[in-house]
Amino acid sequence: MQVAVVGAGPAGFYTAGGLLASGLDIQVDLIERLPTPWGLVRQGVAPDHPNIKAVSRVFDEIAARDGFRFLGNVQVGRDVSAFELSRLYHAVVYAVGASDDRRLGIPGEDLPGSLASASFVAWYNGHPDYCSVSPDLSCTTALVVGNGNVALDVARILAIDPGELATTDIADHALRALRASAIREIVVLGRRGPAQASFTTPELRELGELNGVAAVVDPAELAIDPPDHAPARRNLETLRTWAAAPAATGSRTVRLLFCHSPAALLGDGKVEAAEIVHNRLERHPDGTVVAVPTGETEVIPCGLVLRSVGYRGAPPDGVPLDERTGTIRNRAGRVEPGVYCCGWIKRGPTGIIGTNKKDAGETVDRILEDARAGLLHAAPVAPPGAIDDLLASRGVVVVDGDGWQRIDALERERGVVEGRPRVKLCRWSDLLVAAHPEPVAAGYGVSRTDEP
Ligand code: NAP
Repeated sequence: MQVAVVGAGPAGFYTAGGLLASGLDIQVDLIERLPTPWGLVRQGVAPDHPNIKAVSRVFDEIAARDGFRFLGNVQVGRDVSAFELSRLYHAVVYAVGASDDRRLGIPGEDLPGSLASASFVAWYNGHPDYCSVSPDLSCTTALVVGNGNVALDVARILAIDPGELATTDIADHALRALRASAIREIVVLGRRGPAQASFTTPELRELGELNGVAAVVDPAELAIDPPDHAPARRNLETLRTWAAAPAATGSRTVRLLFCHSPAALLGDGKVEAAEIVHNRLERHPDGTVVAVPTGETEVIPCGLVLRSVGYRGAPPDGVPLDERTGTIRNRAGRVEPGVYCCGWIKRGPTGIIGTNKKDAGETVDRILEDARAGLLHAAPVAPPGAIDDLLASRGVVVVDGDGWQRIDALERERGVVEGRPRVKLCRWSDLLVAAHPEPVAAGYGVSRTDEP
């Protein structure tokens, strides 16, 4: 059986691994838009969290299995269509993540200086589409909207002593910019209360443990009944230790404000301030707690706003998107016999990397069920490798597993010189030339016009 898995992040790798471990005769092509695999493990996980990135070893083991191929630098929807894939493979699995950001829907949201955290994260992680994002860090106050782990990641990266990032795999351009940053205060806004925040306690504690950083919260915002939920109780305990500590000092401050939402971003040609509305919490009969604006407002001067309010999926054309949830319509991973999905595009942008293992197991079960029921072999598919001819006929220069190994080796080599795990190549042209040092590289400039 020939299966294409689209998207080489954790969900894609775990799906490939599950299929290859099934004991059946299966070949998996893992198709990826970037020349590099690992998805958010490379492009999303914060550079100061190397332990989380160690999961890439599991992905390397999967990549080494018989029947596995990596086809990088191939974009479904541009280089090959979803329809064509369904003719080339017995089954296609979309594990394309959630690449779009959710919107706040407030005036001024698109002013320069207001950025989706997804772009900021991709910028400091060296994603080749985002090296020119160049956030303006010349202001003294940054506002981070949202109370999830992404909000804490970006707040921490702005607050941490850049010297501590110098030994990580952060993109060089981001390290240079953070060294020159004038930001001294980072205000993290949660629209609901501390008991409803979705960040996790280790990530919250980390903020309070940064050298030279004062983590601040108003004790009045913590005067609530202990939450029923253990993780929320632990968050509240951490926040209360911050509030009880003697007036914290540091060269930078991270201030958490709860029950506040941005109502508008203000400025003449760029963000200069945010109008903030205070919320009260209302409990609905079904137990959900919602933020209701009180009408009381204040203005916080700031020059950078990072919107960390979650992601939405954007699958390739021809794959059915549920507009309401930003996911592909599916039942336990099955879109229809022959088409499946896994990861954030299946269940929404929640969970940790390991969540994708169980999620992939469920999708793999659906594929194997359909294979056993004879639903995948009803129509003949093209001979193995037919995609290679199709892509070659379109001038697509595929970065295969060997190409990625060359990129990886070069980045690690550069890292050794600087005492870092790797020094990332952040530009399309550098990645593609490293993958294919031979003359084929000459064609890159023609096929790639999206170089930032
Ligand atoms: P998230 O956990 O869903 O958080 C989104 C936040 O945005 C919530 O606090 C939400 O508040 C808020 N929000 C949504 N719409 C808003 C609006 N209109 N105005 C103000 N606030 C709004 O999502 P995430 O932070 O993007 O993280 C995605 C997933 O990746 C999560 O599962 C996360 O745990 C994971 N992740 C993990 C790590 C780690 O383990 N270190 C790091 C990064 C990400 P409400 O609750 O009120 O909706």
